[in-house]
Amino acid sequence: MEYLRETEGKRLHDPLWGRCVVVPGPVIVGAGPSGLAAAACLERRGVHGVIIERAECIASLWQLKTYDRLRLHLPKQFCELPLMPFPESFPTYPTKQQFVAYLETYAREFGLRPKFNETVVSAEYIREVGIWRVVTTTTTTTGGGSGGVGGKGSVLETVYMCPWLVVATGENAEAVVPEIDGMDDFAGPIVHTSSYKSGEGFRGKRVLVVGCGNSGMEVCLDLCNYNATPSLVVRDSVHVLPREMFGKSTFGISMWLLKWFSIQMVDRFLLLLSWLMLGDTARLGLDRPRLGPLQLKNIAGKTPVLDVGTLARIKSGQIKVCRGIKRLTRRGAEFVDGKVEELDAMILATGYRSNVPTWLKDRDFFSERDGLPRKAFPNGWKGESGLYAVGFTKRGLLGTSIDAVRIAQDIERSWWAEMKRLTSIQHLLLHQSPHVSTPATHIDTHRKLEKGNKKKTGLVMHEE
Ligand SMILES: Cc1cc2nc3c(=O)[nH]c(=O)nc-3n(C[C@H](O)[C@H](O)[C@H](O)COP(=O)(O)OP(=O)(O)OC[C@H]3O[C@@H](n4cnc5c(N)ncnc54)[C@H](O)[C@@H]3O)c2cc1C
Repeated sequence: MEYLRETEGKRLHDPLWGRCVVVPGPVIVGAGPSGLAAAACLERRGVHGVIIERAECIASLWQLKTYDRLRLHLPKQFCELPLMPFPESFPTYPTKQQFVAYLETYAREFGLRPKFNETVVSAEYIREVGIWRVVTTTTTTTGGGSGGVGGKGSVLETVYMCPWLVVATGENAEAVVPEIDGMDDFAGPIVHTSSYKSGEGFRGKRVLVVGCGNSGMEVCLDLCNYNATPSLVVRDSVHVLPREMFGKSTFGISMWLLKWFSIQMVDRFLLLLSWLMLGDTARLGLDRPRLGPLQLKNIAGKTPVLDVGTLARIKSGQIKVCRGIKRLTRRGAEFVDGKVEELDAMILATGYRSNVPTWLKDRDFFSERDGLPRKAFPNGWKGESGLYAVGFTKRGLLGTSIDAVRIAQDIERSWWAEMKRLTSIQHLLLHQSPHVSTPATHIDTHRKLEKGNKKKTGLVMHEE
């Protein structure tokens, strides 16, 4: 129990070092759709977990980091979480506000109450005792004037100890900001799409949008709607498909065809119809990759762009397509093909990356390179020693649902055996370290234990 002595030693020497909480269930990191889905599936099976979220709300990516006009890219039947369909009144492609409302109802329905404003800064498996040690920090403001103005910020650290760790921090945890030559010289604003809300602030401006995925394409369209003049930087090849074919979603048709035909056949069909409906996109500066859209998604995880009207604006000349940027200047950009453009602002639609390698000490399950599970779908949901991953399949919310159901089934299988083991660890902890607290355990023996020790040790109780 060396690590226990260490924990207690730190706590005694540093009053801000915080508390230690034993969780007799899984700790789920992240309260996005994936964390909520996993927690709901577990709840349904009687397994209670603790969800930790760095933001102050659920689904922070959707609530805080997306543009106003965003709708689900895929039809709602492919985006619903397990155990609860979307309301029938919702349109085929719900708005982001509707999606967030659905998630809020979902969290309420399953009694999910994440611990907000807590960031997981490290997680490691303590082999000696067979539990995960998860460290979080919360920044608090103390003293100062009203509203904490002028107050001193302090960092409160909490250590959670649990038998299972479910990583649900997402493929989009941190914005990717590329280094572009001359970036510091550029006089206008440079904004990542995670901070872009609408074209309102760009009226009449010449805006360079870097990145031609779904977000970059849609931001260009949004800018047109606000009378800005966007130019789109297209460095790589890209598949643009119509969002719907014959009045049905392209995604739905693809899924249906894949039941009968090979992926190559379906790709050929999609490309033929795209050519008939959209024309030759290469003539617009949007070269198609050598591999078909579904194969490319399968092999490299690269999502095809589903056109929501941007292509028509490119055809009409409202959106200019540019080759890669060579360098930025004070007033604009120089491109690799030698062209020069004057610009007022730049929007980086350059995507996101996982942040798992920055806090998870285990190096076997998640790749350090991209922060995704080393094993591809459908094998990337379960690691060793009670470690799980939900929402890292490169298959959006559909992948999330599949992972969440599997994880809940798997944890339930070992839940009762683990409870017995944890009860004895908990006895030991309370005996050795009077400052260790437990969250509401949902197990009577634990409750009695906590209550019995409350007065004696000054335990902080977490009633869930
Ligand atoms: C613009 C956009 C549109 C999209 N549209 C669709 C769509 O139509 N259909 C679809 O299927 N998918 C879509 N996606 C993919 C998207 O990733 C998923 O829809 C979904 O948000 C993934 O859920 P998640 O819970 O895995 O990740 P996230 O939604 O990113 O949630 C992860 C949560 O973990 C928290 N977190 C991260 N690190 C820590 C930490 N260290 N400690 C504590 N908390 C932490 C974050 O704050 C966040 O709240 C879209 C993505 C984007 C960016």
